[in-house]
Amino acid sequence: MELLKSSKKYQLFINGEWKNSISNQFIEVINPATGNIVGQVASGNIVETKEAIDAACDSFFSWSKETSKARADILMRLYFLLLENEEYLASVITNEMGKPIVQARKEVQTAAEHFRWNAEEARRIYGQTIQSSEKQKRLSIIRQPVGPVAAITPWNFPLSMVARKLAPALASGCTIVLKPAEQTPISAIELFKLAEKAGVPNGVINLVIGNPKEIGDVLLEDKRIRKITFTGSTEVGKLLYKNAAKQVKRVSMELGGHAPMIVFEDCDLESTVNQVVKSKFNNTGQTCVSPNRIYVQQSIKDSFINLFKEQVQSLKMGYGIDENIDVGPVVNQSGLDKVKKHVEDAIQKGATLVVGGTVSDKANHKNGYFYEPTVLDHVDEQMLITNQETFGPVAPIFSFETEDEVVKKANNTDYGLAAYIFTENLSRSVRVSEALEYGMVGINDTVLSQVEGSFGGIKESGIGREGGPGCLEEFLETKWITSTIRD
Ligand code: NAP
Repeated sequence: MELLKSSKKYQLFINGEWKNSISNQFIEVINPATGNIVGQVASGNIVETKEAIDAACDSFFSWSKETSKARADILMRLYFLLLENEEYLASVITNEMGKPIVQARKEVQTAAEHFRWNAEEARRIYGQTIQSSEKQKRLSIIRQPVGPVAAITPWNFPLSMVARKLAPALASGCTIVLKPAEQTPISAIELFKLAEKAGVPNGVINLVIGNPKEIGDVLLEDKRIRKITFTGSTEVGKLLYKNAAKQVKRVSMELGGHAPMIVFEDCDLESTVNQVVKSKFNNTGQTCVSPNRIYVQQSIKDSFINLFKEQVQSLKMGYGIDENIDVGPVVNQSGLDKVKKHVEDAIQKGATLVVGGTVSDKANHKNGYFYEPTVLDHVDEQMLITNQETFGPVAPIFSFETEDEVVKKANNTDYGLAAYIFTENLSRSVRVSEALEYGMVGINDTVLSQVEGSFGGIKESGIGREGGPGCLEEFLETKWITSTIRD
């Protein structure tokens, strides 16, 4: 397996050119499992962001006028290139953000699928003609790309979150300036190298990395940027939303979540526990759709906890480049501190520790940010963990008696991204999925990130959807045209 080299330097990509920043400064990218430097990335700020915007604006006319077939062909080439480079890209993801290699390969496949799906959708941008009530009139609606777009992405899925924005923007005819997370810029850089190879014309995609506020402000203040698409925390999302309002820019916001997972007594217990473990500890609990509140019906709680504990104890934690690793580190020291704080707060307020509950002291974990997979029982509404995203390998368990009670508890949050139900009762699954105030509901299913589905949240979890049948809507404007015809 090819590993990244600490001495390797990476550049910004602006107007089809790889370049260092004017300041000649670099950001060190650290492997959260080992503490080693995996590479150094050029850090650009205001000047480079302005150049990137100029490039995106200058190339917009030609790219938006390109046929959708030509755009789709490029996206399909990128799909194949991603798959050809799956192993290398997966190692990049594992090294810069810590997720186990098996999960990193899945992320590369998902990223590739976004390009394929959007290539297919690019051919299906339809307008409408409408019958007028006046004989002389001809009425139609056409769809056009929004314009140059700014995209800002998080570190937890450093490749697929970029793909989920780049693919629909390009398919719709938009040009783009991307700012990936400082923690994990190399995955985005490698994706841009492949996009260049696939034939994306100069200026259509641009990559700037550096101080988030400075770059964000330039992107938001420039009137030529017509849309901002953001994935990240609700806190930063609100800030960007407020600033975007000054010019009434279009926005898409994929924000934080606090997913309830409801386990009813009529579920298939074994399969449920398998899925809960996979979903909770996927990406070391650092996903926006991670189950943050696991509600188990009282009558099956003991059996659930016994099975759950057994499986959690068998999870193997470590540097994810090893094929057998199930759980990697959390992303950095502040991520580790937050997990510790949430567990300590819960225990202090009466939660009981079923398993885990400590920073890992194993010898080969000493330079990484490892926290033992943890299960807490008797968690209640007063604890931090019940109200804030933990973003770590901690499973808090609550109990409930009735369906009405648990739906109320599940909805009692400002977040509205994902929720899950486990039951074999069809009527209950319909009733509860309809009553849950969330953008996505999994019924006996925890895999919500599928390109064919509309991913996104309601309430403070976001605005808009990514993927699915309407994926290009977010990047298209509607133009209504009326004409008068002479006899
Ligand atoms: P974050 O702190 O909000 O950062 C996200 C991105 O915003 C990063 O690129 C960051 O840059 C940038 N940023 C930070 N402050 C900014 C500012 N003032 N102006 C412009 N950009 C700014 O989130 P994160 O810690 O990377 O990611 C975790 C969060 O993302 C969680 O809340 C998770 O639930 C959410 N998430 C949501 C989804 C979804 O689809 N709904 C998917 C994945 C993650 P730097 O990296 O340089 O700070």
